[in-house]
Amino acid sequence: MKIVFATGNGGKLREASEILGRGFELVTPVQMGVSEDIPETGITLRANSLQKADYLWNKCGCNCFADDTGLEVDVLGGAPGVHTARYAGDDKDFNRNMDKLLDELSRKETEASMMASMGITPKKDLRRARFRSVITLIVDGVRNFFEGVLEGRIARAKAGCGGFGYDPVFIADDYPDRTLAEISEEQKNSISHRGKALREMADFLKTYPAQEVPA
Ligand code: IMP
Repeated sequence: MKIVFATGNGGKLREASEILGRGFELVTPVQMGVSEDIPETGITLRANSLQKADYLWNKCGCNCFADDTGLEVDVLGGAPGVHTARYAGDDKDFNRNMDKLLDELSRKETEASMMASMGITPKKDLRRARFRSVITLIVDGVRNFFEGVLEGRIARAKAGCGGFGYDPVFIADDYPDRTLAEISEEQKNSISHRGKALREMADFLKTYPAQEVPA
């Protein structure tokens, strides 16, 4: 089955191809003649992934899927959430995004220690966070949704040089001594939010009846 994946990110494409396995040919929007930026103006991860998948379906009429990911930090009320990529500005600078996050959390910790000195202890683990990925898959015009979550904590400082995005400041519960930027790509893919959502989608597709797919 041929499926268009709404990404230009080679790493994501490789990960999705590995998880879907043989029998699925993944192609990019550019290969289908869609080279413009696909709009994502939703206020939730699900709305954004749906918007991107709908856009591709309307342009190509091909089976397709799109993902959207957010980092949710409990003490920040779930922020940056849907604004994860642009947390510190529209230039999507990963380093500035991470610096802003680390600053916000140190501020929260300072506030918490002042409260503690007055005998009020915080109810929340101040560094508890999770990545959440939502995928919208459109097959034969029908939309399906898949979600994956990776629980963890925000580190006190950046560490490691692997991965991308917020990996240097995220410590998954599965690897509590290292950030995601310090584990291998294989280890990360086996636990990651996107990996979980992709595996759910793969399980669905593998039981989907064989279809005639438009060229
Ligand atoms: P997107 O929806 O995949 O574009 O992800 C939105 C933002 O979340 C990205 O710009 C990254 O900053 C961040 N992000 C997504 N997935 C990961 C991940 O696996 N590790 C670290 N950061 C991620």
